[in-house]
Amino acid sequence: MKTGVVVQARNSSTRYPGKMLHNFHGKSALEWVLDRCAGIETDYKLLATSADKDDDILADIAKDKDWRVVRGSVEDVLGRFAKAVKDFELDAVIRITGDCLLTDYRLVNHALSRFRKLRCDYLVLTDIIDGFDVEVISSTAIISADKGAKLPSEREHVTPFIKKSKCFKAVSLPYGEENLSHIHLSLDYKDDAEVIGRILRKFENTDFSYEDVASLLKTEPQITEITGHITPNTGYQKSLNVDREFIRRLKGRPLRLKSNMKLFNRVKSVIPNCSQTFSKSYLQFSAGASPLFVKEGKGCYLTDVDNNKFIDHAMGLGACILGYAFEPVMREIKKQIKRGSVYTLPHYLECELAELLTQVVPCAEMVRFGKNGSDVTSAAVRLARAYTGRDYVACCGYHGWQDWYIATTTRNNGIPDDIKRLTLTFRYNDTESLERLFELHKDKIACVIMEPVSLQPPDEDYLRKVKEITHRNGALLVFDEVVTGFRFSIGGAQKYFGVIPDIACIGKAIANGMPVSAIVGRKEVMRLFDEIFFSFTFGGETLSIASALATIRYMDDNRVIEYLWQQGDRLKAGIDKIIKEKELEDVLSIDGYPVRTVLIFKGDEKEGLKMKTLFQQECAKRGVLFSGGHNISLPHGDDIISKTISVYDEVMDILRYSLEYNMIDEMIDGRLLEPVFRKV
Ligand code: PMP
Repeated sequence: MKTGVVVQARNSSTRYPGKMLHNFHGKSALEWVLDRCAGIETDYKLLATSADKDDDILADIAKDKDWRVVRGSVEDVLGRFAKAVKDFELDAVIRITGDCLLTDYRLVNHALSRFRKLRCDYLVLTDIIDGFDVEVISSTAIISADKGAKLPSEREHVTPFIKKSKCFKAVSLPYGEENLSHIHLSLDYKDDAEVIGRILRKFENTDFSYEDVASLLKTEPQITEITGHITPNTGYQKSLNVDREFIRRLKGRPLRLKSNMKLFNRVKSVIPNCSQTFSKSYLQFSAGASPLFVKEGKGCYLTDVDNNKFIDHAMGLGACILGYAFEPVMREIKKQIKRGSVYTLPHYLECELAELLTQVVPCAEMVRFGKNGSDVTSAAVRLARAYTGRDYVACCGYHGWQDWYIATTTRNNGIPDDIKRLTLTFRYNDTESLERLFELHKDKIACVIMEPVSLQPPDEDYLRKVKEITHRNGALLVFDEVVTGFRFSIGGAQKYFGVIPDIACIGKAIANGMPVSAIVGRKEVMRLFDEIFFSFTFGGETLSIASALATIRYMDDNRVIEYLWQQGDRLKAGIDKIIKEKELEDVLSIDGYPVRTVLIFKGDEKEGLKMKTLFQQECAKRGVLFSGGHNISLPHGDDIISKTISVYDEVMDILRYSLEYNMIDEMIDGRLLEPVFRKV
């Protein structure tokens, strides 16, 4: 193991400028330190000082004593250590600060031998008198700290990054019989020089040890009387305040949001909740810090009413899978609009789309169209009730705004108890929780309706088991593929996982942002729609049908979904990597399959929302509209993915520092986000 002792010293101390040249009995402070280090058993002896002219004299003193010199920036001491490690190809360094002029080489050699034995990355002796400090650090730790440490305190004090990181094996080794760390003997102030001078005089020119100093102070405690009031480590405390200022300055320049806020105030009096969809509302976008209203979209960019432009990842809640205003689809819509949109008779395009769906979706033998996801999930429930003659429904996931489902959530205002009673819930990947419902409500459950997959992957064989349990109990299996339908594959999650339900509900991406949904399924069941009332003015509206035909054909012809998996993979891996690099795993995770991932803020709900608010605010300032999820879409090319990852990288730094310094509240500029559904 190639080692070097590195003494860090500079002349520009704020507390005692020029202290390294203070004369103690004919020798400067620096000479004392270097001489006291002479007995350290290492391959190299190095002085790390600044490149400032003022420090030339220190370099000269070191060179005269045959020490090697590494020079770098005044504040960036860590950078100087990294340079020493690289220039001299060291495996480990012993860090001695210039103000420890009493340093005892025996103590240092002891630390070094323990470091070797324990095979650690960092070792510090504790409980020792302040002024005999020894740290031994592996070159790996120094190099990765040099790469990752950004805070002023981490650069100036060399080791905080290493001590905070969970990546390194750090050892704190108490030394001596008694904890003497309250005694201060390092050279920080002029008074310290007086005390150190007295101690040096006591020992004249002998090779005194740490123990000698300790016992001297025991018998003559008055030696340190004049510096007794000094608290050790004030330098570090001071730089924590510098860190705070540094963190505040990491915030981006506030966005211009004048028109957004004006419209927000106007809309409040005419539109309850200020939007048509909870997930698009100000509950999910921080008023005052994030845009609230959009003017137009193109590709994956949104332009807000103040003309700020953002990369979007929610993509119209997952609908606009080919991008906003996608030309090949728009052409078909334009063609159709010239011929009308809704008519007095069904249009022949309905048949074309229904036939196409029966070709691409495994369970689809017959098809009916709705406008929203909720239309078709509710149609599925009615269909299952009619088919089985049973009233109860078992569900797992989110299924839309209608009574039968919303009754199970915390936003169940206005829904009669009689309806609430009929919807039961079970847990994903927990077949027992489903079996229990069938036992408790024997022969009463009409269907199991579930998202075949959301963020959590299904356990091995889980979906097949659900199908078996459902059928064994005489119920229908409905897959809510509103999200997964044209995202996991053309044909949905049922095709992806190879488990075919009786009925499936499709929405969102099917028509690239035009309003159409579909319920598809087995003929024998679907035929019941002849008797069931599922009928509305805009059913079969042709602009959306034309759009769906164009969207599905384009996706199929151009292998779009394969591309989305690939791009989603890049994004997910990139985000995962920075979460790990920044050691944010306790508060952040990127969950879900590559085609739809969500950045999760973990832990306490309130704290999570604060983190998300700050995250969104800083992403917005950097041109990325963040609302938690990533519905990967065709325009999310390599450049967009890279830009997103680099913005997240910056913003995650802001987040982690704000957390570390307890500054989240003061960093937030706008209104705190709120959950659509409270956790129960
Ligand atoms: N099911 C799932 C799985 C959904 O994600 C959604 C919408 N987010 C719906 C149903 C309801 O769809 P819509 O909002 O279009 O009514």
